[in-house]
Amino acid sequence: MDFLIVDRYRVPVRNSRTNQQRSQVAITRSGIRLRISKYLSKSQKEETINNLLRWAEQTLRNGDIAYAEQWLPPTNSEIQLTILGTPWKLTVLPSLSTDKARISIFRQSSQTLIVQIPAQFNRNQMNRALSSYFIPIFYDQVWQILQNLNNRFTKAPLGNLNLRYTTSRWGSCSSLGNISLSSRLLLAPLPILEAVMVHELVHLEIKNHSLDFHKRVEEFLPEIKQQEHWLQMHGPNLNFC
Ligand SMILES: [Zn+2]
Repeated sequence: MDFLIVDRYRVPVRNSRTNQQRSQVAITRSGIRLRISKYLSKSQKEETINNLLRWAEQTLRNGDIAYAEQWLPPTNSEIQLTILGTPWKLTVLPSLSTDKARISIFRQSSQTLIVQIPAQFNRNQMNRALSSYFIPIFYDQVWQILQNLNNRFTKAPLGNLNLRYTTSRWGSCSSLGNISLSSRLLLAPLPILEAVMVHELVHLEIKNHSLDFHKRVEEFLPEIKQQEHWLQMHGPNLNFC
């Protein structure tokens, strides 16, 4: 199979022949699909493929590349991350292991990591692996921030904190007073993490999203609207890689 490389994505290209006069290109979840008219000469065919691929590349660049993604691991490059305000440097290298699922993470110095990833690793796998690495390092700090906010504002019967990698929700809470937060919030500025925490802490008292609920949150965090807006705008970019 052929691939079109767009930024850090390897987009699969499938090529087939059609009986129609017109050639077509479509961008689907599994990549780019070309249907080339069988009435074209060899050189016409080449030119058509080039034109259609150029159109597809432009469209993917302007839109959602991830839609047709086969992510290209950032091997032999460096990733800079700011986690709870501290800068981390990750040097990404190809894995030496033959195990296709095995990622290795070594701590080179206090905030410098060597990350060895298998060639077939996808973005989701790498995000989850990095999240699993960082959660134990930052758990106590996050727990402390949550407890401080609860002592200062809500004084709710707080259970446990659960930090995990999620893509659908930033936070949730249970009837036992347990609060779950997305580990992706570690990559957000502190006020944003605190805003999600206060939202969940107030839920321990008021379950729904009523007017009372929002008033209560705003009482504690007058800037909550801006913080929620920030999360809407920048939340999708909060990723480990
Ligand atoms: Zn809520």
